[in-house]
Amino acid sequence: MRSVDPTVPVTVWKEDDVVDGRRERALVAILRTRGCHWWRRGGCSMCGYNVESAEGIGTEELSIQLKAVLARYEGERMVKLYTSGSFLDPDEVPPEMRKRFLRSFDGAKRVLFESRPEFVTPDVLEELPDHAAVALGLESASDTVLRCSVNKGFSTRDYVRAAEALQARGLPVRTYVLLKPPFLTESAAIEDAKATVRFAAPFSESVSVNPLNVQKGTVVEGLWRRGDYRPPWTWSLFEVLPLKRELPTVRLFSSPSGAGAQRGMHNCPSCDKGLLSALETFNFEQDVGLLEGHDCACRREWASLLTAERAMRTSVDVRRYLEDELAL
Ligand code: SF4
Ligand SMILES: [Zn+2]
Repeated sequence: MRSVDPTVPVTVWKEDDVVDGRRERALVAILRTRGCHWWRRGGCSMCGYNVESAEGIGTEELSIQLKAVLARYEGERMVKLYTSGSFLDPDEVPPEMRKRFLRSFDGAKRVLFESRPEFVTPDVLEELPDHAAVALGLESASDTVLRCSVNKGFSTRDYVRAAEALQARGLPVRTYVLLKPPFLTESAAIEDAKATVRFAAPFSESVSVNPLNVQKGTVVEGLWRRGDYRPPWTWSLFEVLPLKRELPTVRLFSSPSGAGAQRGMHNCPSCDKGLLSALETFNFEQDVGLLEGHDCACRREWASLLTAERAMRTSVDVRRYLEDELAL
């Protein structure tokens, strides 16, 4: 781990989100903690979040971080407290500190944080205030993908148990769906993401489709460097999000990290900007029409790669191999 100041949050910023169907300002803080317990046991194949974590962060350091977050707070209706792990893990955020964080934003309509399902326990549920909301990183509704591709360390049953418990307690659930885990072809990834959105919808107030971006020091980065992985095409995300039509009560959205760059979801320089702008509008308006009618020369390349990968039964970055071998 890099040397970092344990009393300073990783970052704090503001953005828009949706609370009870209304667009609202949100304060977002990434708190520095000792990081995800699962990451120390191998972690998920695409996860490099823990580079910002540090050992030895406890109540004292988190209290100073809380002051820094409060200094930026201007009464936003939504507050998001992320930890690059689980806010509900008592080893990351001691329970007393967790209560202080939540109490500090009593005035907000909603405080959203992330947790792995194993920390959603009856005791914790009883203690959480009514303005809490929990984001669960399900990633895939396929236990095979969770085990063999993501190395998630929990199963769909664990997700369902936690999501049902949160629903029974009346707390909204946001579910994260991963678009294109490693070892899946582009077309299999589209189908996996669609199946996962459908699976998660009955448990979720909102579903965020997260196209994989290649983070440093991860298993996926190793695959990507040698041409065995390509981040998803933007066209693929535009195949998944129209599911909104069949899911009127769920907010379906995507805020891809690193989009348009080689490590992130991308098509080609001619079309990515326009598509990302349409996506940003869709995220709030939920009008599927915004995602339709787009075209670019690269769309035909994407379509033929879907077929080629299927025929070749491979998930490697076929185009990159062809470029290297044939100097295309
Ligand atoms: S993706 Fe989440 S659960 Fe997986 S290692 Fe990273 S922080 Fe932990
Ligand atoms: Zn293009």
